[in-house]
Parts: sequence; structure tokens; C-alpha cells
Amino acid sequence: MAKKPDFDTLAVRAGQERSQFNEHSEALYLTSSFVFENAAQAAARFSGAEKGYVYGRFDNPTIDMFQRRLAALEGGEACVATASGMSALLSTVMALLSGGDHIVSSQSVFGATVNLFSTILSRFGIETTYVKATDIEAYKNAIRPNTKLIFIETPSNPLMDVVDIAALAQVSRAAKVRLAVDNCFCTPALQQPLALGADIVIHSATKYLDGQGRVLGGAVCGNKADMEEVYKFLRTAGPSISPFNAWVILKGMETLRIRMEAQSANALELAQRLEAHPKVARVLYPGLASHPQHALAARQQSGGGAIVSFEVKGGRNEAWRVVDDCRLLSVTANLGDTKTTITHPASTTHGRITQEARAAAGINESLLRVAVGLESVDDIFGDLLSGLG
Ligand SMILES: *Cc1c(COP(=O)(O)O)cnc(C)c1O
Repeated sequence: MAKKPDFDTLAVRAGQERSQFNEHSEALYLTSSFVFENAAQAAARFSGAEKGYVYGRFDNPTIDMFQRRLAALEGGEACVATASGMSALLSTVMALLSGGDHIVSSQSVFGATVNLFSTILSRFGIETTYVKATDIEAYKNAIRPNTKLIFIETPSNPLMDVVDIAALAQVSRAAKVRLAVDNCFCTPALQQPLALGADIVIHSATKYLDGQGRVLGGAVCGNKADMEEVYKFLRTAGPSISPFNAWVILKGMETLRIRMEAQSANALELAQRLEAHPKVARVLYPGLASHPQHALAARQQSGGGAIVSFEVKGGRNEAWRVVDDCRLLSVTANLGDTKTTITHPASTTHGRITQEARAAAGINESLLRVAVGLESVDDIFGDLLSGLG
């Protein structure tokens, strides 16, 4: 048996299927439906008796290539692509939970995730309990007989809390509850949650998988049985990804590891320089020895990632001045781009959750989040220095 290809090989090659034209690069199939030979084949395709493409809401060859490639990189049996990261999360919950079920979630998760759980799913009888991201006992204690899902993000947005995936997987396995990990910040290039015992990986492909801020996309990876349920929801409810977006992300994944390594190296350098600056109160970056879960991050991740959060001395005014004095960094809430971005989470990504929820999550007015890109770190740091004074 030939050896299993390495990550770098999978990133470039996995999942490709050539058409009768033998194109070298992955083909983009922009079509909303597929033609059948005759009525009998149409019937067989619709009933599922015959495998093959039917309709763009269900599947598409370009989307399939994206799904196979990401499944290979995450080490999952299967993957379902979705229109966005949020629809990946929604599809997972709608497929695997029912009214009356319960979620235990880390409190340090993306703002829209909290909104989805607390203001939307709650209307359908799905309740969520939030616990401190890093407190494994707290997850265990929050599990009830009707708990169906433990949900975490690691490292978390924007505080960079690192959750011990292997330890939490032991808790979830013992309780027969699925563990889902939002792997947006690390991507499979730096962290593979399924290998650490998680059941489901959720992606906003909008971020590093695309890597250049072009399109929206999302994905769910896991075992065949779970992904079959997610797929059934998707093909009926319709949060399907556009083939064009899937193609952009598929090609983006070819450079994923190289980008993640270069952006992580930039981020570490920036974090070290910020930590030494007198106007900076605190730097939150897993690659720094000062990070509370530095040892865990070193074990669990093969790099610190490209997000550096830091608190300036002062409050909102001082933080906003750093943003407003940026000439190079893009003032945008997006992340995962080769262009460095800066955001003030308390008034943007986390602005719609309540003041109490924000305080509980530790997101204060002096916090800034920089998603480090591929520009020179001298230029990135220089831009931040203007507003730091
Ligand atoms: C952006 C993001 C999401 C949501 O993804 P969209 O593609 O914007 O829907 C979810 N989780 C994390 C950590 C994110 O950064």
C-alpha cells in the first residue's frame, strides 16, 4: 500500500475529479440543474436509486471537490459545504437537535453564534447554557439528560482562550454528547479537532480557507452518519453554497498551510512587539509565554494562529484612536485575509450582545483584535504605533 499523502499533498490534490476534457485545474460547474438521459433515469436520480447530480441545491461537482478536500484536510469521513459559517452552524443544530434539547456552549464564541443560540434557537425550544471556555469541569457540570451538543471555539474570538479539546472530548464521550469545534481560527493546517476526539468541525470558509476575503462559505465535517443528517437538512432547507464560492475556496485551500504559517509567524512577532509597548496593557496571543494556556496551545496547535488581541491602556477612546490612526490596516470586522484587519469587538462583532454578556465574556472597551495578514510586520506594527502614541 502506498503511504497516505501528507497534508500539503492533500491540500493541492485531494478531491479533484476531472471531466471528460481532462482539465488540469479543478473545473467550475456553474449550473443550477443537471440533465437526465430519460424519464427512468430522472426518476432513479430523484429516488436516490441511482447516484448522480440532480439539482444545485442538492449538490454540484465543484462543491463535491471542495467537500472532499476539506474532509481530507480535517481527517473527517465526510463534509457538507454551506453558504456561510453561520449556516454551517445552523445546519448542524437543525440536523442533529430537536425542540427540548440542550446545548452547552463555551461563553467565548463568535457574537453571531451567541445570537443564534440565545435569540433564535431558544424560540424553538432549544436551550443553551454558557460556561467559561477553559473550565472543563464547568462543561461537565452543565450537562443535563437532554444535552445533545457541546460547542466550543478554540482559540476563541476575540479573547484567544484555548480549550483543551482532548480533555473535553473525554467528557463528551462519557456523557454520549457530541462535541463540535469551530476551527475557524486555526484551520486544519494548525489544528485537527477530530484527531483530538471531537465529533464535528465547523468552519467559516469565508476566513482562512478562502484566505483572501473574496467569498462567503462554510462547512461541517464529521462522521458519515452525522454528515448525512446535515446534508438532508441542507438539501431541503437550502443554505447551499454557490459553486463559484466553493471553487474559490477550493483553490484557496491549496495555499492554506503556507499562508497560515507565514501569518502566524507575523502574528507572533507583532504580539511580542506589542507586549513590550508601554501603552499596551495586555496582549492575548497563544504563542506568547504570557498566555494562560500557552503550554496547551503548544501541544494542541502547530502554530499560534494569525489573530492577536490586545488591550490598550485606557478605554474606548484610546482603543478607537488606534483604529482611526491606521493608514495601512483595514478597519473591517472580517478576518482570515492576506490583508491585515483591525476591529474593536465591543462595538462591532460583539456589539449586539448585552453589556452583561460582554462583561461576562471579558470583552471590554479597551480591547482590539488584529487579524494579521502577509504585509511586512514592520509596516503593520508601524501603523499601530501611530494611534498608540
Ligand atoms: C466569521 C466567523 C463565523 C461566521 O462565519 P460566516 O462565514 O461569517 O457566516 C463563525 N465563527 C467564527 C469564529 C468566525 O470568525
